[in-house]
Amino acid sequence: MNIILLGPPGAGKGTQAQRLVEKFGMRQLSTGDMLRAAVKAGTPVGLQAKAVMERGELVSDQIVSALIGEELDAMGAGTGAIFDGYPRTAAQAESLDALLSDRGRGLDRVIELEVDEDALVERICGRFTCANCGKGYHDKFEQPNQAGVCDKCGSTEFKRRPDDNEETVRTRMAEYRAKTAPILPIYDARGIVTRVNGMADIDQVTAAIERALSV
Ligand code: AMP
Repeated sequence: MNIILLGPPGAGKGTQAQRLVEKFGMRQLSTGDMLRAAVKAGTPVGLQAKAVMERGELVSDQIVSALIGEELDAMGAGTGAIFDGYPRTAAQAESLDALLSDRGRGLDRVIELEVDEDALVERICGRFTCANCGKGYHDKFEQPNQAGVCDKCGSTEFKRRPDDNEETVRTRMAEYRAKTAPILPIYDARGIVTRVNGMADIDQVTAAIERALSV
């Protein structure tokens, strides 16, 4: 099964993708994570993407679609893909169709996480992750059980994304409204969209997604 998690920044796409990975052995394909790794490694793609990401704007369609193609090629044919943060434009949606059909895959479902935009700035600006295992936390909503120690792996190092500040978040949301939300009708026309309340409790959101995937 290949699915897209769609929703504005902070909607919970990454959190839910991680849960699906753990539960069903699917693979999370997050273009944001791939780009951050490229920036960290100082690759040509990373050098091109760094400033664009810091402004909260979108990296070029060609770059992100090429990254997705490489990841799909590296995956076992039987492993399902969760697209997280991709596609973000109509051109990327078109590329994804081609990338999947070239590999004998199809798109089974698009989950749209519906959220209240006003709550997103607070959600995003307080979030941080374990630098070792990537577990997500939040200043207000989910602190580690023991202050400064990761619940999952015991690491004491945490990190915050440089683009998780209010000004950049506003740009990222504007990009979502202008370029990403308009691709939903493409998938609506195919009858494969399920809308899930992304403001519900994390477990309830997971349960709703699992229901959507079992239909
Ligand atoms: P994310 O981790 O999904 O919030 O992405 C972080 C940043 O990476 C975005 O604000 C964009 O600058 C860039 N990015 C990630 N995925 C894409 C994509 N599919 N298309 C264009 N830019 C992207």
